[in-house]
Amino acid sequence: MMGADHPGSGGGGRVDTVCMACGERSPGVHLRCPRCGGPAILEIEGIRWDVRRDVPSMWRYESMLPAVRRRVSLGEGVTPIRRVGDAHVKLEGRNPTGSYADRASSVMASHIASEGGRGEVAVEYSEDFAYSVARYLRGISDVEVAIPDPSRVDPQEVVALVEMGARVRFGRTGRELGYANSLSVEGLKTIALEVIEKSPRVERIVVPAETGLLALSIWKGLRDAEEAGAGVDLEVDAAILRGSGTPDVLSRIGGVSVHEVDPEDAVRGLVELARAGIRAKVLSAAAFALAEELGRGLAVVTASQRRPQVHRRGESALMADVARAVGEMGEASAYDLWRELRRYTLRGIYKAVEALEAEGELCARHVVRGGRKVRVYSRCVDGEDK
Ligand SMILES: [Zn+2]
Repeated sequence: MMGADHPGSGGGGRVDTVCMACGERSPGVHLRCPRCGGPAILEIEGIRWDVRRDVPSMWRYESMLPAVRRRVSLGEGVTPIRRVGDAHVKLEGRNPTGSYADRASSVMASHIASEGGRGEVAVEYSEDFAYSVARYLRGISDVEVAIPDPSRVDPQEVVALVEMGARVRFGRTGRELGYANSLSVEGLKTIALEVIEKSPRVERIVVPAETGLLALSIWKGLRDAEEAGAGVDLEVDAAILRGSGTPDVLSRIGGVSVHEVDPEDAVRGLVELARAGIRAKVLSAAAFALAEELGRGLAVVTASQRRPQVHRRGESALMADVARAVGEMGEASAYDLWRELRRYTLRGIYKAVEALEAEGELCARHVVRGGRKVRVYSRCVDGEDK
């Protein structure tokens, strides 16, 4: 199963890659600067602020994204915005694999699929990214994950990668697809576009900054939206933990203010978020604490990814009933299934559809119902979503 694979869609027109280190401008899409290997961003001609509100994913901003012939989407983006304490939060844990990296993966997988896909793609391991991109490339390319430093892997993520059929090797050649690239920036910038579209009463987007790529992407999203004619009046503030140093890429652009946050404040933020039912990484909690302190802020909150459970043999009667009911109904949300199978709890139904999706039994997509994004399931056909 590889998720909804749509025929391509046109964003803007001609694309140039502009290097943030040496300033070189190269025609076409390059992941990094072809001259010096430095970090690069894309300049897309003809972008328009033309939101397709019927599309329940970040592809509602396709007019702002580089054009692709095929689109690979699992319903990423359009994550909720909530108010917690004195700040707003955008819940990026609500992406298909539980990580904002899905936005980047969707653009990269679309690009790879548009170029014909298949073959093998070597991916450099970094937490959450490796699993996300492997998930998006399922059915398009074989994935080999290169792990430069085995002492810094999330063991559950590696197990999940192997379960999904990825090959794992140690060391790297330098030619692997890494998280920091120009297409990642295009995917991640849609967070800013969603904030503009929803326009909560905030003046700033506060971003956790480890490599700085997310903050760079949000900054680019605001800049592109302004160029495309959307009214934008937002600043970008990046949160780093005290003493960790400003990420290189953020020193190169003027538009992002970097703030140090005390670890104590980050932990207080973590507790406040947990009380509101939100799981977050420490650095995200630092961004939340900073958003509260600066005032009128929206913090981008990333969570630790939920790895699929390695499922035991002998599936329960519940899963069998759910799979059968989906087959009969054609397409159903967890709520529809709960109404159909009254003898189970809604929570039980949710667990069953998640497990069945992880096993490739059910395929999910998002639809808009009554103005809300709803996840619906169907039987996977020939290893692909319909
Ligand atoms: Zn360069």
